[in-house]
Amino acid sequence: MSQPRLTVLAGPTAVGKGTVSTYIRDNYPEVWLSVSATTRPPRPGEVDGVHYFFLSSEEFDQLVDEGQLLEWAVVHGRNRYGTLRRTVQAAMDEGRRVLLEIDLQGARQVKESMPDATFVFLAPPSWEEMVRRLVGRGTETPEEQQQRLETAKLELAAEPEFNHTVVNDTVEHAADELVSLMGLLPLQR
Ligand code: 5GP
Repeated sequence: MSQPRLTVLAGPTAVGKGTVSTYIRDNYPEVWLSVSATTRPPRPGEVDGVHYFFLSSEEFDQLVDEGQLLEWAVVHGRNRYGTLRRTVQAAMDEGRRVLLEIDLQGARQVKESMPDATFVFLAPPSWEEMVRRLVGRGTETPEEQQQRLETAKLELAAEPEFNHTVVNDTVEHAADELVSLMGLLPLQR
Protein backbone atom coordinates (compact mmCIF):
# COMPACT_ATOMS: atom_id res chain seq x y z
CA MET A 1 0.00 0.00 0.00
CA SER A 2 1.31 3.45 -0.83
CA GLN A 3 2.12 5.63 2.21
CA PRO A 4 3.33 8.83 0.58
CA ARG A 5 2.69 11.06 3.56
CA LEU A 6 5.16 9.41 5.87
CA THR A 7 8.64 10.90 6.16
CA VAL A 8 11.41 9.32 8.21
CA LEU A 9 14.29 11.48 9.42
CA ALA A 10 17.37 9.58 10.56
CA GLY A 11 21.08 10.20 10.73
CA PRO A 12 24.11 9.82 12.93
CA THR A 13 24.19 10.43 16.63
CA ALA A 14 24.46 14.08 17.64
CA VAL A 15 23.87 15.35 14.12
CA GLY A 16 21.02 17.43 15.53
CA LYS A 17 17.94 15.38 14.61
CA GLY A 18 16.32 16.35 17.89
CA THR A 19 16.99 20.05 17.35
CA VAL A 20 15.58 19.94 13.82
CA SER A 21 12.47 18.05 14.92
CA THR A 22 11.94 20.45 17.85
CA TYR A 23 12.21 23.36 15.42
CA ILE A 24 9.64 21.73 13.16
CA ARG A 25 7.30 21.05 16.08
CA ASP A 26 7.52 24.73 17.09
CA ASN A 27 7.30 26.26 13.61
CA TYR A 28 5.39 23.87 11.36
CA PRO A 29 2.10 22.86 12.96
CA GLU A 30 1.10 21.22 9.65
CA VAL A 31 3.60 18.46 10.41
CA TRP A 32 2.48 15.71 12.77
CA LEU A 33 5.61 14.73 14.71
CA SER A 34 5.42 11.28 16.22
CA VAL A 35 6.09 11.05 19.99
CA SER A 36 8.18 7.93 20.65
CA ALA A 37 8.06 5.59 23.61
CA THR A 38 11.34 5.14 25.49
CA THR A 39 12.78 3.44 28.54
CA ARG A 40 15.27 6.30 28.94
CA PRO A 41 14.60 8.49 31.98
CA PRO A 42 13.56 12.08 31.22
CA ARG A 43 16.23 14.77 31.01
CA PRO A 44 15.55 18.06 32.81
CA GLY A 45 12.79 19.92 31.00
CA GLU A 46 11.48 16.92 29.11
CA VAL A 47 7.75 16.37 29.43
CA ASP A 48 6.02 12.99 29.32
CA GLY A 49 3.78 12.79 26.26
CA VAL A 50 5.44 15.77 24.58
CA HIS A 51 9.07 14.77 24.07
CA TYR A 52 8.61 11.06 24.71
CA PHE A 53 6.32 8.66 26.47
CA PHE A 54 8.63 7.66 29.31
CA LEU A 55 7.97 4.00 30.11
CA SER A 56 9.29 1.35 32.46
CA SER A 57 11.00 -1.65 30.94
CA GLU A 58 7.89 -3.74 31.70
CA GLU A 59 5.60 -1.26 29.99
CA PHE A 60 7.84 -1.25 26.92
CA ASP A 61 7.89 -5.09 26.89
CA GLN A 62 4.11 -5.03 26.81
CA LEU A 63 4.02 -2.73 23.75
CA VAL A 64 6.45 -5.07 21.97
CA ASP A 65 4.50 -8.19 22.93
CA GLU A 66 1.22 -6.68 21.78
CA GLY A 67 2.73 -5.64 18.42
CA GLN A 68 1.95 -2.00 19.12
CA LEU A 69 5.27 -0.68 17.81
CA LEU A 70 5.84 0.11 14.14
CA GLU A 71 9.56 -0.19 14.86
CA TRP A 72 11.77 -0.23 17.91
CA ALA A 73 15.47 -0.41 18.70
CA VAL A 74 18.03 -0.39 21.47
CA VAL A 75 19.93 2.85 20.90
CA HIS A 76 23.55 3.28 22.04
CA GLY A 77 23.37 -0.17 23.61
CA ARG A 78 21.34 1.23 26.49
CA ASN A 79 17.72 2.22 26.25
CA ARG A 80 14.85 1.14 24.03
CA TYR A 81 12.97 3.56 21.78
CA GLY A 82 9.95 2.81 19.62
CA THR A 83 7.25 4.33 17.43
CA LEU A 84 3.60 3.74 18.33
CA ARG A 85 1.93 2.17 15.33
CA ARG A 86 -1.63 3.23 16.15
CA THR A 87 -1.05 6.97 16.54
CA VAL A 88 1.06 7.14 13.37
CA GLN A 89 -1.57 5.26 11.38
CA ALA A 90 -4.35 7.47 12.76
CA ALA A 91 -2.48 10.63 11.76
CA MET A 92 -1.87 9.26 8.26
CA ASP A 93 -5.53 8.24 7.97
CA GLU A 94 -6.45 11.83 8.84
CA GLY A 95 -4.29 12.94 5.92
CA ARG A 96 -1.64 14.56 8.10
CA ARG A 97 1.98 14.84 7.00
CA VAL A 98 3.72 12.55 9.45
CA LEU A 99 7.35 12.83 10.52
CA LEU A 100 9.29 10.17 12.43
CA GLU A 101 12.61 11.19 13.97
CA ILE A 102 14.25 7.85 14.75
CA ASP A 103 17.57 6.05 14.67
CA LEU A 104 18.97 4.17 11.71
CA GLN A 105 17.91 0.71 12.88
CA GLY A 106 14.36 1.99 13.23
CA ALA A 107 14.48 3.63 9.77
CA ARG A 108 15.49 0.29 8.25
CA GLN A 109 12.54 -1.43 9.91
CA VAL A 110 10.13 1.20 8.58
CA LYS A 111 11.63 0.74 5.11
CA GLU A 112 10.74 -2.94 5.32
CA SER A 113 7.11 -2.34 6.24
CA MET A 114 6.51 0.99 4.46
CA PRO A 115 8.88 1.17 1.49
CA ASP A 116 7.01 4.06 -0.10
CA ALA A 117 7.76 6.41 2.77
CA THR A 118 10.30 9.18 2.15
CA PHE A 119 13.60 8.52 3.89
CA VAL A 120 15.73 11.56 4.70
CA PHE A 121 19.30 11.35 5.98
CA LEU A 122 20.39 14.28 8.16
CA ALA A 123 24.12 14.73 7.64
CA PRO A 124 26.57 16.80 9.68
CA PRO A 125 28.49 19.61 7.92
CA SER A 126 31.66 17.72 8.93
CA TRP A 127 32.86 14.98 11.28
CA GLU A 128 34.64 17.59 13.48
CA GLU A 129 31.45 19.57 13.85
CA MET A 130 29.57 16.44 14.84
CA VAL A 131 32.10 15.59 17.55
CA ARG A 132 31.95 19.17 18.81
CA ARG A 133 28.15 19.02 19.04
CA LEU A 134 28.19 15.69 20.83
CA VAL A 135 30.77 16.70 23.40
CA GLY A 136 29.30 20.17 23.74
CA ARG A 137 25.91 18.87 24.74
CA GLY A 138 27.32 17.75 28.07
CA THR A 139 24.39 15.53 28.95
CA GLU A 140 26.28 12.22 28.62
CA THR A 141 29.19 10.70 30.52
CA PRO A 142 32.54 10.28 28.67
CA GLU A 143 31.78 6.56 28.26
CA GLU A 144 28.40 7.36 26.74
CA GLN A 145 29.99 9.95 24.43
CA GLN A 146 32.52 7.39 23.20
CA GLN A 147 29.75 4.87 22.61
CA ARG A 148 27.78 7.46 20.64
CA LEU A 149 30.78 8.34 18.44
CA GLU A 150 31.29 4.67 17.60
CA THR A 151 27.63 4.40 16.65
CA ALA A 152 27.90 7.62 14.60
CA LYS A 153 30.75 6.29 12.44
CA LEU A 154 28.68 3.28 11.43
CA GLU A 155 25.62 5.45 10.88
CA LEU A 156 27.42 7.87 8.51
CA ALA A 157 28.03 4.97 6.14
CA ALA A 158 24.27 4.46 5.75
CA GLU A 159 23.60 7.61 3.73
CA PRO A 160 23.17 5.79 0.36
CA GLU A 161 20.21 3.86 1.79
CA PHE A 162 18.19 7.08 1.93
CA ASN A 163 16.13 8.91 -0.72
CA HIS A 164 17.50 12.34 0.22
CA THR A 165 20.28 13.94 2.25
CA VAL A 166 19.83 17.19 4.16
CA VAL A 167 22.97 18.81 5.59
CA ASN A 168 22.37 20.25 9.05
CA ASP A 169 24.42 23.42 8.68
CA THR A 170 21.81 25.55 10.41
CA VAL A 171 18.62 24.30 12.01
CA GLU A 172 16.47 26.69 9.96
CA HIS A 173 18.00 25.60 6.68
CA ALA A 174 17.75 21.90 7.51
CA ALA A 175 14.13 22.25 8.65
CA ASP A 176 13.21 24.23 5.51
CA GLU A 177 14.72 21.60 3.26
CA LEU A 178 13.02 18.82 5.15
CA VAL A 179 9.57 20.40 4.97
CA SER A 180 10.10 21.11 1.26
CA LEU A 181 10.73 17.40 0.77
CA MET A 182 7.46 16.83 2.63
CA GLY A 183 5.65 19.01 0.12
CA LEU A 184 5.26 22.07 2.35
CA LEU A 185 6.35 25.63 1.73
CA PRO A 186 9.26 26.77 3.92
CA LEU A 187 8.60 29.71 6.25
CA GLN A 188 9.07 33.22 4.88
CA ARG A 189 11.53 34.94 7.22
P1 5GP B 1 17.78 10.87 22.87
O1 5GP B 1 17.93 9.90 24.00
O2 5GP B 1 19.00 11.75 22.72
O3 5GP B 1 16.49 11.64 22.94
O4 5GP B 1 17.66 10.02 21.53
C1 5GP B 1 18.61 9.07 21.23
C2 5GP B 1 18.35 8.48 19.85
O5 5GP B 1 17.12 7.74 19.84
C3 5GP B 1 18.25 9.49 18.71
O6 5GP B 1 19.14 9.06 17.69
C4 5GP B 1 16.82 9.36 18.24
O7 5GP B 1 16.72 9.55 16.84
C5 5GP B 1 16.50 7.93 18.61
N1 5GP B 1 15.06 7.70 18.72
C6 5GP B 1 14.13 8.50 19.28
N2 5GP B 1 12.92 7.96 19.18
C7 5GP B 1 13.06 6.79 18.52
C8 5GP B 1 12.14 5.77 18.09
O8 5GP B 1 10.94 5.84 18.29
N3 5GP B 1 12.68 4.71 17.45
C9 5GP B 1 13.99 4.59 17.19
N4 5GP B 1 14.41 3.52 16.53
N5 5GP B 1 14.89 5.53 17.57
C10 5GP B 1 14.43 6.61 18.22
